[in-house]
This record gives sequence, C-alpha cells and structure tokens, in this order.
Amino acid sequence: MAELGRIVTEIVEELRPAVERGRVADYIPPLARVDPQKFGIAVIDASGAAHLAGDAEEAFSIQSLSKVFGLTLALNLEGSEIWRRVRQEPSGSAFNSIVQLESEQGIPRNPFINAGAIVIADILVSRWGRYAARQALLDLVSPLVGTPGGLGIDEDMAMQERETGFRNAALANYMRTFGNLHNPVDDTLDLYFHQCALTMSCRQLAEIGGFLMNGGTDPRSGRVVTSVSNARTIMALMMMCGHYDGSGAFAIRVGLPGKSGVGGGILAIAPGLASIAVWSPGLNAQGNSLLGTLALERLVQKTGWSVFNAF
Ligand code: GLU
Repeated sequence: MAELGRIVTEIVEELRPAVERGRVADYIPPLARVDPQKFGIAVIDASGAAHLAGDAEEAFSIQSLSKVFGLTLALNLEGSEIWRRVRQEPSGSAFNSIVQLESEQGIPRNPFINAGAIVIADILVSRWGRYAARQALLDLVSPLVGTPGGLGIDEDMAMQERETGFRNAALANYMRTFGNLHNPVDDTLDLYFHQCALTMSCRQLAEIGGFLMNGGTDPRSGRVVTSVSNARTIMALMMMCGHYDGSGAFAIRVGLPGKSGVGGGILAIAPGLASIAVWSPGLNAQGNSLLGTLALERLVQKTGWSVFNAF
C-alpha cells in the first residue's frame, strides 16, 4: 500500500519538531545518553512490505519489549501451566511495583510487569540454564528478522542493569520466599537483565512482530513461531497490560495491542493488517514513549486500524 509510506512519513514530519518529548530513562548511562531527538516508525503490512520513516533502521535498547518474546518461549514450552505462576490481569501499578506480591502470595499480576517477566525468565532458566536461555531468545527472534545489523545483546547494558537492579533483585528474592522462583536468583536475574539489553531497530522489531500479526506464523517463511491461541493470548495481554499503569489510556487512544519499553520503543499489532514499531526515547509519567504513543494514535486515526473499529 503506497499510501502507508506517505502516512508514516507525514507522521514523522508532523511530530518530529515536537518540543514536549517526555524524559529519557536515566537510571543507567547507556540509556541516559541516547539522543532524545531520535524518532522512527516502521510498519510491515500483511503483504510483507516495509514502510519506514525517520530513524527506523537504527538499533535501540528494547528493554521490556523483550517480555513479549520471553512469554512466547514460555508458552511454547509449558502452555497454560505458566498461569499457575503468573496471572493474566492488569496490575494498575508501576512496572516495578512490589506491593501486590505480598497479598497475592508471590504470584505476579501478569507477565509484562517486572515481577511477572522475572517468573517467565525463571521458567526459561529451568529449561535451558541461564546462558542457553539467552541463546534461545536470540534463536526465537533472529530468524524472523529480514534485514541485517543491530540485533544482539548489549553486554555493557546488561552489566549496568545488574549493577543498578536492586528493585528487580528485591522482586526476585521476595518471590523466591513464596517458592515462585525455582532457580538461584542470580541465574534468573542474569537472563532477565540480558533480555532487557536486547537491541534492534524499529524495522527489525516490526519484522519480528509479524508472527503476532499473522496468528503465530512468521509471514515471511511460513514457519509456526507459536500457536494461534498463544498469539491471541499474547496480544490480549499486550492490550491489557502492555503499558503498565498507562495500559487503559493506551487502549483507548490507540486501540491496538501494544508493548512498550523504557528504551522508548513500542511494538503494536493490527491483527491481520500490520506489525508496527515506533521509537522515541522520551517517556511519559508511566514510562511509555510519549511521542511513540502519539505517533501510533495518529497512525490509527489515518488508517482506521483500531481493533474496536470493526463495525
Ligand atoms: N530494565 C528495566 C527494568 O527492569 C525494564 C523496564 C521497562 O522497560 O519498562 O527495570
């Protein structure tokens, strides 16, 4: 659709001069030094065509977007068994909140808050061990990428995540007291910090998201990445929990399942229509990309892609 190319270019041109861009995450230097002016959009449509604008081919830190891929692997491994250890409900709390864990016996609200993602990482470590689990994540996403460059794990980022990850360590230790972590805390956190340090471009992220757009099957190769029902589950969770305590507002403004990361990326899926990645490092008060959300809102207005539009 040639028109899509025009639409994404228009959005970048319109929003790029924005003065209000939010705050870049500054809890570790490699995130703090990212240029707040960066702004990219990549849309992969159902035919596989890529529509790019701005800094769509520059790699950035995907941070919590990796929670989507960890969840995919865990569902592939254990199916609905995982719901014994993590729930499927919105949390209404900040991404790194610990409060609900006490009243809910160490069972996190969903796999997209940090506590839930740490449980998912623990499942992967039980299966593969900390090093091979990292590789399993890379093996899941790498074949889905059609363009070279930028995809990998930033070791320095992972190390700095570990050095400052006291809150994540607290979550992991606390869950372990309830028996909801089965491996040494260091092993599980090591995987969690490395998955947060995955880097890729908007284009690559949108290419990877193709399997969600397409009911679990990679549209380029025809390879089944996960089942139709897992793809539905992942997207339902993205819609309800993908933006932490900003998830409701995102669902209303954008109307697509989406997952954000503190690196300023968002992956959004228009089922059957498009896989979309945006990146702008400045974050709003809930830790979600400010300009990225605005860009998705504009895109959905211009394309009518909201999942609530089907009438
Ligand atoms: N590395 C961050 C953390 O664990 C990820 C949070 C995010 O992207 O929302 O705190």
